[in-house]
Amino acid sequence: MKNESFDVVVVGGGPGGSTAATLVARRGHRVLLLEKETFPRYQIGESLLPATVHGICRLLGVEEEMERAAFTRKRGGSFRWGTNPVPWNFLFALSPEISGPTSYAYQVERMKFDEILLRNAAAKGVEVRENAAVGEVVEDGGQVTGVRYTDADGEVHEVSARYVIDASGNRTRISAAVGGERVYSEHFRNLALFGYFEGGGRLPAPDAGNILCAAFDEGWIWYIPLSDTLTSVGAVISATRAQEIQGDQAAREKALRGFLDRCEIVRDLLGPDAARVTEGTYGELRVRKDYSYANTRFWRPGMALVGDAACFIDPVFSTGVHLATYAGLLAARAVNSVLGGELDEERAFGEFEGRYRREYKVFYEFLSSFYDMQGNEDGYFWKAKKVTAFDTTAMEAFVTLVGGVASGETALTAPAEMVDRFGASARSLSEAVEATGDMTTASGERMNHLFGVPVVGDVMHEMNEIQRRGVLGSATREAPLLPGGLVPTADGLGWTEPA
Ligand code: FAD
Repeated sequence: MKNESFDVVVVGGGPGGSTAATLVARRGHRVLLLEKETFPRYQIGESLLPATVHGICRLLGVEEEMERAAFTRKRGGSFRWGTNPVPWNFLFALSPEISGPTSYAYQVERMKFDEILLRNAAAKGVEVRENAAVGEVVEDGGQVTGVRYTDADGEVHEVSARYVIDASGNRTRISAAVGGERVYSEHFRNLALFGYFEGGGRLPAPDAGNILCAAFDEGWIWYIPLSDTLTSVGAVISATRAQEIQGDQAAREKALRGFLDRCEIVRDLLGPDAARVTEGTYGELRVRKDYSYANTRFWRPGMALVGDAACFIDPVFSTGVHLATYAGLLAARAVNSVLGGELDEERAFGEFEGRYRREYKVFYEFLSSFYDMQGNEDGYFWKAKKVTAFDTTAMEAFVTLVGGVASGETALTAPAEMVDRFGASARSLSEAVEATGDMTTASGERMNHLFGVPVVGDVMHEMNEIQRRGVLGSATREAPLLPGGLVPTADGLGWTEPA
């Protein structure tokens, strides 16, 4: 058995792992990333949020590469949701925090996106090893001190490290080592059946790049335009229907066809000309279930969980990659602060877990309300009206939340010219939209009510800061997000006590 030593071992080369590894390496620490597969490899989770694209990707230094990859631009989302038959849209530009140059995200083929992040990690100094499957962690004196992994030749290696970051996704083999347990959501008990189509239609411009989420009697369907011709299409239905779609591809095909036929807007978009891709990586009809859970602990001495290894909520509103990359950043800050001798472990990782849980909880509550209200618009209004007074900021808060960014703090702390530019841009768009009536239709008003629930008012400052750091690349002064908590260092890569 070979033995090596690194400062940090990251397990898994998805977006969470690549983010954590790169941001620790950027502080000059020695990082080993172990990935079971050889990239590019398939993964679901194709619709990104602006916070990832403009915040995390800029911190990682891949924004130009992302631009060159020519992914579909996503300006917002389109919904046919609840009992209202009229589809409604939201634009990221309606949030004052995501205005100007950052009012879009991307729809990505994960094989391409994840590979960009992984190769970038290597370029930024991370030692990346593919075909390296981690089987267990090594412990000593109540502390995680490393991992054992098996390489492509079957040889077992042991690596010691001050920290192990588990970013190995929903099928992690080592997350239990943090000492907690995975608790499955009582609320989200769904499964997804999904595949790919060539030749599907597009929403009218300028919404052609939007994700479309269309509810139907049995659940809802995502329709994600990955290129001019390729579309990711998936049905999310109750897990109690698992029996129907288990089995061979023919059974899945039959089930998916049935769902699509019963969802009018998607059926119309696919039309007679669209053909399901039946060969290659996109040719398989896949099923995912048991994906809504959270671990009761996110860290222990020597180890932290990031991304799906820690938690995931639900595909609606595309929060998975956001939570994974945000957690990657938070974990990197904690690791960097401890390795740099600036903070003790308890304090640094307490901040990591506190912020990560907060982000998870805000989305969990919001998505729960969103599902609860599906199919019963009266109940939905009643609930929303009961908990909030309608005002125009509710819609902005919604877009800010689902963009993965927070309230107006960015504009408040950014240099004057950026404030002016961003602020003016957001205002003019907002005004323009209102003037044209896009968001003030009956369905637009419904959005305002819905997204005025208190949890939306509790949007995070943090993602806003991340995005601003990415855009401006500058030091900032932030208030602690948590009571008695820490603030990010000037470079955004560590924690420090507030002034
Ligand atoms: P992953 O992307 O899963 O990466 C983990 C990596 O670890 C993999 O490369 C794997 O090969 C590797 N690995 C696993 N085991 C080992 C091991 N033992 N040793 C070494 N390496 C290992 N998110 C969105 O943002 N937008 C969406 O539209 C969206 N849609 C979704 C639809 C469905 C049906 C589901 C279930 C999820 C969706 N998600 C979406 C969520 C998204 O897929 C995940 O949240 C995201 O991929 C998590 O990233 P990660 O880095 O934590 O893990």
